[in-house]
Amino acid sequence: MSYEVKCEWREGKKTIVINPDGQVWPCCYMCNTGKDYKGHPNIEDRQMDSYVYMEYHGYRDELNIFKNSLDKIMRHKWFTQTLPKSWEKEETSTKACKQWCSNLINKRDKEN
Ligand code: SF4
Repeated sequence: MSYEVKCEWREGKKTIVINPDGQVWPCCYMCNTGKDYKGHPNIEDRQMDSYVYMEYHGYRDELNIFKNSLDKIMRHKWFTQTLPKSWEKEETSTKACKQWCSNLINKRDKEN
């Protein structure tokens, strides 16, 4: 079985999350994990996620609705390249994308 991610929020709900701090996230799953994430190397269970979240935080200001337009944010390379490219392999997907939107987990597993 080849690995596949279908972004539930992008393709299904066609929506995003704007956090009260202005940060724009692709979904609540990533927002909840990433909003306080600073890429600390000792947070073991988040290490596999680090490059996606670390890149996000590197562009933090550019991805903030108080500092940039939503149109520009949605066209930002984190949304158009970093995130979708991370879905190409299981090893590069974030834990959230793997857990909620990959073909490794079926809907029943999500609900339990
Ligand atoms: S977890 Fe990943 S694939 Fe799923 S909705 Fe969020 S960004 Fe999209």
